[in-house]
Amino acid sequence: MKKIAILGSTGSIGTQTLDIVREQKDIEVVAVAAGSNIALLEKQIREFAPKLACVYDEEKAVELRIKTADLPVKIVSGMEGLLEVSVFPESEILVTAIVGMLGIRPTVAAIQAGKKIALANKETLVTAGHLIMPMAKEYGVPILPVDSEHSAIFQSLQGNEGNKISKILLTASGGPFRGRKREELEQIQVEDALKHPNWSMGRKITIDSSTLVNKGLEVMEAKWLFGVELEQIQVVVHPQSVIHSAVEYEDGAVIAQLGTPDMRLPIQYALYYPKRMPMSGERLDLFSLGSLTFEQPDTETFRGLALAYEAMKQGGNVPTIYNAANERAVALFLAGKIGYLKITEIIETCMEQIVHRENPSLEEILETETLVYEYIERFICK
Ligand code: NAD
Ligand code: MG
Repeated sequence: MKKIAILGSTGSIGTQTLDIVREQKDIEVVAVAAGSNIALLEKQIREFAPKLACVYDEEKAVELRIKTADLPVKIVSGMEGLLEVSVFPESEILVTAIVGMLGIRPTVAAIQAGKKIALANKETLVTAGHLIMPMAKEYGVPILPVDSEHSAIFQSLQGNEGNKISKILLTASGGPFRGRKREELEQIQVEDALKHPNWSMGRKITIDSSTLVNKGLEVMEAKWLFGVELEQIQVVVHPQSVIHSAVEYEDGAVIAQLGTPDMRLPIQYALYYPKRMPMSGERLDLFSLGSLTFEQPDTETFRGLALAYEAMKQGGNVPTIYNAANERAVALFLAGKIGYLKITEIIETCMEQIVHRENPSLEEILETETLVYEYIERFICK
């Protein structure tokens, strides 16, 4: 039996991870964590029988403890609880499927405890990649990408050890507003931005996909995961989401991974790497697709992507400023407190206003996050 722990078991990636567990039958879920959805978490505990479960919200944890009193599961809460799940002695792999910088400390703890990381939580690498990647190397643990593009790149690298990458072609669907100009985005409502053309995902990443901030975060994620220069990463808009990304080698060969848009494949590949397991579901039918198309990204309209390259170029804590500003701005947009275009405006303002630091420690990254939140609270939410 393969033993895994999941941070964010009730979310989009978390529930699809459990779909794989249900189908494969040789994975045991030993620990899980979620934010506050205790109704679903209770169902998951009854079905998968983990030994440890964390609910971030303290009061909900008390409720869940009562509801699961008949079961041999320990219920914990808060950051302490997340850390306990991350380092749970029996687990071999930690699936990091929570949203945002909250994932940093649990990921660090898991690496130090020698757990393999199946990484969905891209915000952790974006903000702390300079600490996480060397740490994973030091502890000899692999960081296995779950993000579909990074999984595609990782799959395209297999069998090419020692061969230099000349370029990464990072594909993007372009989101629901592809082809629109800035003026047309002013009146965008939350419901419009939550309609992704090809993927069904959590709310935050769906908004990020519509602004292309998600692609910006993915460029930074790719740089850390694959150790390439920023200039080697080219974003290619490919509305059909069939080519999940590709690698170009020095001889001009381009190797890509294709498939239907289904996150279960990258999740399963990370869990079983280097083995490929059977999987149910639709298969790619090239005849019914007919054609695949490609476009340059419009970085004038979707400033979030250009700002991501800028943040990564500046380095230090600037990617953290970019990410933290986006996290807060998206939350404000989802709560109906700011307009759609304000999201990238806030990111840009924070990148200009918050003090830059080189080579930030973990504490300095978290400090930067607080500074960004305070700045937005004082000057933008006033
Ligand atoms: P989601 O919103 O659907 O799920 C988030 C999960 O995190 C939920 O289980 C929630 O309960 C949990 N959570 C929230 N706050 C928490 C807290 N304080 N403590 C513990 N758990 C908490 O999000 P998602 O779409 O599954 O995305 C998860 C991560 O994976 C993100 O970093 C996202 O960028 C990345 N990702 C997602 C997809 C996708 O298809 N959904 C694809 C690529 C990458
Ligand atoms: Mg992705």
